[in-house]
Amino acid sequence: MPVSIFDLMELAQKKPNAISLGLGDPDLATPPHIIAAAKRAIDEGRTGPVDPTGLPELRAAISRKLKRDNQVEADPSAEILVTTGGQEALFLLIQALIDPGDEVIVPDPRYTSYDDAITLAGGKMVLVPTDEAHGFELDPDEVARRITPRSKLLLLISPNNPTGGINQPSTVRRLAELAQERNLIVIADEIYEKFVYDGAQHLSVASLPGMRERTITLNGMSKTYAMTGWRIGYLAAPAEFIRVATALKQMVNVQAPTMSQWAAVAALDGPQDCVEEMRRTYAQRRAFLMEALRDLGFTFAAPLGGLYIWANISSSGIGSTEFSFRLLRDADVLVLPGTGFGEQWDDYVRVTLLRPLDELEIVVERMRSMLQAEG
Ligand code: PLP
Repeated sequence: MPVSIFDLMELAQKKPNAISLGLGDPDLATPPHIIAAAKRAIDEGRTGPVDPTGLPELRAAISRKLKRDNQVEADPSAEILVTTGGQEALFLLIQALIDPGDEVIVPDPRYTSYDDAITLAGGKMVLVPTDEAHGFELDPDEVARRITPRSKLLLLISPNNPTGGINQPSTVRRLAELAQERNLIVIADEIYEKFVYDGAQHLSVASLPGMRERTITLNGMSKTYAMTGWRIGYLAAPAEFIRVATALKQMVNVQAPTMSQWAAVAALDGPQDCVEEMRRTYAQRRAFLMEALRDLGFTFAAPLGGLYIWANISSSGIGSTEFSFRLLRDADVLVLPGTGFGEQWDDYVRVTLLRPLDELEIVVERMRSMLQAEG
């Protein structure tokens, strides 16, 4: 039996009829005005090297966006670094901040790329459990209990991957107080900020008094504008940190691709109704899948944000790795096992909202027949 997510992906590739609710890459098209901006940049020869921190026009657009959407001030000349996707951003920030033995407080379950980055830097992960009964929201008291003299960073991913949990504004305020009292640097990964549901509210921790100077905000184009392959992310943080992260970035890949940066300028400065349209599409899929999964006997905390449903499959009587494997082998549907998001999450699978409704209907039928066959 395959045990890793990579094994499952490999098997999925050998199955032409497989429907993938596996990876978190949006299936929707990049909006046409963004594509047109990239084409213009290429046609006009605006493809050469730019400053390692990013195209000045893009840093200015990010600064405007942070002020407009997040009430966060960031000086485009010193406090913003454009990266080759959020993935590079998260590796850079951990390498820049963590010395061997430093502790990083990480909500569990988790996006395990942070595990890899922290381990690579010699840091130690300190997990804070979150649970279905509380919508996978982070509990500041649980965080407080785990702070030690070696605690350096508090990682906040809201909306969360894989759970779809959101830290409500009152929680964000309490976490901010805690960070100031106990001298923690906060990483605010806000890559799913635009996809919130049921009237939930996203509050950027860097906008709170006293937090700008101790927060590193991570965001990018991949999710908001369906631009995963364009590889544009960014960090907004105090100038001293940006200097260190930029030096690292120069060693790794010098700068993010220039034409993608021009596309990102168009994304941030252009009309934003395309984002609301995408949100509505995801909201419809979410409503359909929640009802269907409930009907199949699974439980979950309704995701208040993000692009996933973190479904508790314990009623099936099969662990998540086995469940995902059999679902793919016997019913041509790929979902990711909970164990890919922390060893102890074997009762859960992550199901994405990233296929059209007609395919989701097929997915549900396939799941139903697989469960009936298991009987
Ligand atoms: N942060 C989180 C929480 C993610 O889920 C992802 C991707 O799934 C990323 C960062 C990185 O995204 P990208 O490199 O496409 O910008």
